[in-house]
This record gives sequence, structure tokens and C-alpha cells, in this order.
Amino acid sequence: MKTNLLALTPAEIAALMEIMGEPAYRAAQILDWLWHKGAESFAQMTNLPLSLRQKLEQQVDIGFLEVLAKQKSADGTEKLLLDLADGQTVETVILPYDIGDSACISTQVGCRMGCAFCASGQPGFIRNLTAAEIMAQVLQVRNLLQRKGRKLKNLVLMGTGEPLDNWTATVAFLEAVQDPQRLGMSLRHITLSTSGLVPKILALAEKGWPLNLAVSLHAPNNKIRNRLMPINKKYPIEELLPACDLYVEKTGRRITYEYILLAEVNDGSQHARECAQLLSGRICHVNLIPFNAVPGMQWQPSPPEKVIAFRNVLKSHGINATIRRKMGADIAAACGQLRNICKNKTRGE
Ligand code: SAH
Ligand code: SF4
Repeated sequence: MKTNLLALTPAEIAALMEIMGEPAYRAAQILDWLWHKGAESFAQMTNLPLSLRQKLEQQVDIGFLEVLAKQKSADGTEKLLLDLADGQTVETVILPYDIGDSACISTQVGCRMGCAFCASGQPGFIRNLTAAEIMAQVLQVRNLLQRKGRKLKNLVLMGTGEPLDNWTATVAFLEAVQDPQRLGMSLRHITLSTSGLVPKILALAEKGWPLNLAVSLHAPNNKIRNRLMPINKKYPIEELLPACDLYVEKTGRRITYEYILLAEVNDGSQHARECAQLLSGRICHVNLIPFNAVPGMQWQPSPPEKVIAFRNVLKSHGINATIRRKMGADIAAACGQLRNICKNKTRGE
């Protein structure tokens, strides 16, 4: 296996240059090409001597991922299916917003959490992504946008996978994001979404990073949450919410609670009142998510009037709530669907 350049810290790139017998300033040049100028091959690093570029080509993998399939929605949302070195694939979504473009990044191939409404979890868990593979998705999107004269402003870890179930890679990724010599993006522009792995939420709180945390709540009580999200049996609501409170205390960031509205499951006015009671007094925001229907699943989205009524009940109880704009509905938008569709087509499985 070749060394993956995206996986290396600046100190490790410096060490690599030393081993290769190159002057120290070459490390800074490579870092600049890779992280700031958006080079995707060694050939583009034109201020490096040809001999070094050839040596790098032979010994080091730059770490970019090839785009296997692309889907573009009428609303501008773009979904990329990227090819991983071992033949697995991963989905990345580009969300164009007036306030700045955003990328939705995956952290695992599949997911082991088994949420009942989620397409990502359907094929089960295959493997964790490495920090470099998570970062390659970001650079892919950044470079694509840059070529169109646009700028990547926000990142959401809301693609396939449970980021906190891939703790080591996710933390290494977040370190590379903040590092001014690498991506150099403030964690204020990043949102990590979790199904609620309590010990990891506590560990993240200890970091004290200004990272936005989104928590998939999706139910106002344990009975419904157990049915939708098996993880709730391990970390029930009465453990999850105090962990979130600690996160707010340690980081000063507000939490977003995500709540998918499923017809006749969790969308009644009594559920809204229960949810308001649960969150009352907490520094938070509720993001109501219209369910993206997944083929073969029993769940149906709540009708729009019920979504609005739900939001109004929360608001009347003083809970800040918004309805997420549905994007990419025409391109099999529920995370994991492009991968599920393309698996057969592109790999002949
Ligand atoms: N594993 C993490 C992050 C990835 S999922 C988590 O669960 O939070 C990102 C968000 O998409 C979660 O809130 C998840 O519940 C939601 N989601 C999953 N399937 C969905 C669907 N079919 N329609 C709408 N949202 C969905
Ligand atoms: Fe995994 Fe999140 Fe999907 Fe649940 S909702 S199966 S945690 S990706």
C-alpha cells in the first residue's frame, strides 16, 4: 500500500521530504498545492522538480477519489458517488444555498445503527471510512465548486454512517479541518449529526470545540424512539439529553434536535407537546425533517399541514423550530439511495 498524502499531517509530510532527501521547503509547497490550490495530481504541482513529482507518483497516493456517478436535482442539489480504493463506494452531496454552498459528507460505508427509516443502514455496516477518505469528499466538493467560481462554506456530517461510531477517523478529520496548514475551516461551519452515542457525545464535549452538534431525536419518548432507533435501547432519552446539555455547557454551542415526521407514528399534536416538554428549558433548536420515502419501507411522510401544526405547537411552548427545506427529492435524496441504486449498475454485483 502506498502512503496516502491526504492522511499525513504537515509534520509527517516534512518527515517524508527529509526521508526523500528533499529540502524542507518542499513540504510547504506540497501542502499548499494539496490543501490550498486544489491540486488533484502531482503533475499539477508545477513548482516541484519533475524528478520529485515522478518519485512522489511512484511512492505516494494523493488520495483523491474518482467520481463514479453523478445526479443533479432540479433544485441544484448534486449527488456524487465516489470510488474507494477497495471497490466500495461512498456518497457525497453538494447543497447549493444562497448563504453559501454546503457539502454533506459520509463517514462510513453503510451503518450499524439500523434505524428503521434510513436507507443508509439498509445494506448494513461494511466498513469505516478513513480520515483521508472523509477529507477527500470535502476536497472533491471544494475543488468542484472552485472551478465554478463558488465557495464551500459549510459542511455537514450527515451522509451515510454514524460519525461517532467512527470516532478515531472523525476526530482526525476534524483536526485536519481546523488546521490552518490543511483545510483551515472553522468548526463553527461544521455540523456533526449523531444518532446519540452518549459516551462519544461526552468525549466530544470534553474537546470543547465550537462544532455544531445535531442529534437525531425523531421521537418524544422512549417507546417510539426504541421502535425507530435501536440505539435508544442502549442510550435512552434520559441519558441522551443530559449528555447534550453537557455538550452545550462545555462548548457554548446550541444543539439542533432533528425530528423526522412520520405519518401516524410521531407526528400528532400530543407528540409535539411531549417533545416540547422534553426540550423545555434547553438551549436548542428543532429541525423538523420531511421524511424521504425509501422504497420498500412501510413509513410515510406526514402531510404538510401536520408538519406545520407540529412546528406551531413547539413554537407555542417557546421551542425554536424550523422545517427543513426538502432538497434533491427528485434524485433519490435519502442518504444511501444513490449507493444502493448504483451498486448493481457500476459494480455488477
Ligand atoms: N448517523 C447520523 C448522521 C447521518 S443520518 C444520524 O443518524 O444522525 C443524517 C440525518 O438524516 C439523520 O437525522 C437521519 O435520521 C436522517 N435520515 C435518515 N433517513 C432519512 C430519510 N429517509 N428521510 C429523512 N431523513 C432521514
Ligand atoms: Fe445510521 Fe444515521 Fe441512518 Fe441511523 S439514521 S442508520 S445512525 S446513518
